[in-house]
Amino acid sequence: MATTAFVLDEEQQRFCAQVREQAVERLLPLAHQDDPALGERVNRPLLEEMGRLGLLARLFPGGGRSAAALDLCLLRESLAQVSTEAETALALQGLGFYPVVQSGSEAQLARWLPEVASGRAVAAFALSEPGAGSDAAALALEAKPDGAAGTDGGWRLSGEKCWISNAPEADLYTVFARTGPEAGARGVTAFLVPADRPGLTGEPLDMISPHPIGRLRFDGVPVGPADLLGEVGGGFRVAMRTLDLFRPSVGAFAVGMAQAALDAAVAHAAAREAFGGPLRDLQSVGHRLAEMATRTEAARLLVYAAAAAYDANGGTGGGASRSGGLHGPTGRAAMAKLFATEAAQYVVDSAVQLHGARALRRGHLLERLYREVRAPRIYEGASEVQLSIIARELYR
Ligand SMILES: Cc1cc2nc3c(=O)[nH]c(=O)nc-3n(C[C@H](O)[C@H](O)[C@H](O)COP(=O)(O)OP(=O)(O)OC[C@H]3O[C@@H](n4cnc5c(N)ncnc54)[C@H](O)[C@@H]3O)c2cc1C
Repeated sequence: MATTAFVLDEEQQRFCAQVREQAVERLLPLAHQDDPALGERVNRPLLEEMGRLGLLARLFPGGGRSAAALDLCLLRESLAQVSTEAETALALQGLGFYPVVQSGSEAQLARWLPEVASGRAVAAFALSEPGAGSDAAALALEAKPDGAAGTDGGWRLSGEKCWISNAPEADLYTVFARTGPEAGARGVTAFLVPADRPGLTGEPLDMISPHPIGRLRFDGVPVGPADLLGEVGGGFRVAMRTLDLFRPSVGAFAVGMAQAALDAAVAHAAAREAFGGPLRDLQSVGHRLAEMATRTEAARLLVYAAAAAYDANGGTGGGASRSGGLHGPTGRAAMAKLFATEAAQYVVDSAVQLHGARALRRGHLLERLYREVRAPRIYEGASEVQLSIIARELYR
């Protein structure tokens, strides 16, 4: 079978089928997604099962020192077709720990990688603040030099992080704080902060997003040189390199959701009788399904192209330097994330429309997807931010 122009080879197709099968048999029975109250808690049994299946370890190939974007996308797309809860739990483990994989020390990796890859420890990525979302470089969490911290050259973290997935239940946080007086991206440093550090507290936030999200408060939390991720002042680049890898994979999550909605709509339109025949015989229904299928496939191809561009670039998307033009990893990642998340919104909404009232019944696949599909257009760079990135790459 051809392996170019984004036809998956047989091994990749087998991998996707195997992940979907494992998700149906081993993960769905552990998922909480029909119970919104339980969905506000980290589902540790589900995460540990993904550890046992080896799915989390696939997030950190090469002993944690390399990352394959296409592999990550296939994993996310396949899981999302079966269980968005399992998909999101896996993705957050990757997002939270990738700064350590990318920029952490051998000691940090040795301490945490086995725990995170087995699902015994829960990771979270803490960048956003009440005053710094799309404009992440405006973050204000202060890292103040602290001789009294007992560590030569330590800091105390003070301030707040908001909208942090897996907070406040995670076991470790990758945290971005301001160590220097320099404005914007300069002066930001990344730290690995274990959840049991004194002064770190948090609370859950009630959101239309069926995974746990919370706020974190830092009240003089001590961190030292051993907690650094990369260099002092290099933290914004750590965050951007992490997002370069994960952005196309948010698109893959969206493609998985769109495919699940499309499959449900095709089946329903064949089975539902109205006006003397199946719904799908109405031309307007057939056209809507065709539009849904076309947008889903276009999104998939953009996602695979972006992931392949990232991998071809040696596992880097360009980071803060943002190089490569429209067809470089950064431009492609932005196009993939933008198009796939917007397409998935259209496809899921269309599937709801074609199902009629039954789709809105609590617990229905489409009711869940309708809630889930909204947030990816906002996080990891809102659609408007992706458009700005694409325009900048276009003008290069
Ligand atoms: C479900 C969910 C999970 C999240 N998980 C995490 C997490 O784990 N870690 C983390 O750090 N953060 C997380 N976030 C936060 C997320 O990254 C921010 O919500 C996002 O960066 C947008 O910031 P904001 O919400 O403050 O919106 P704002 O920055 O206030 O933007 C609001 C809107 O203004 C418009 N806008 C903003 N900037 C521009 C621009 N340059 N050009 C044109 N229009 C613009 C867009 O329409 C945008 O949606 C999560 C958010 C959600 C919803």
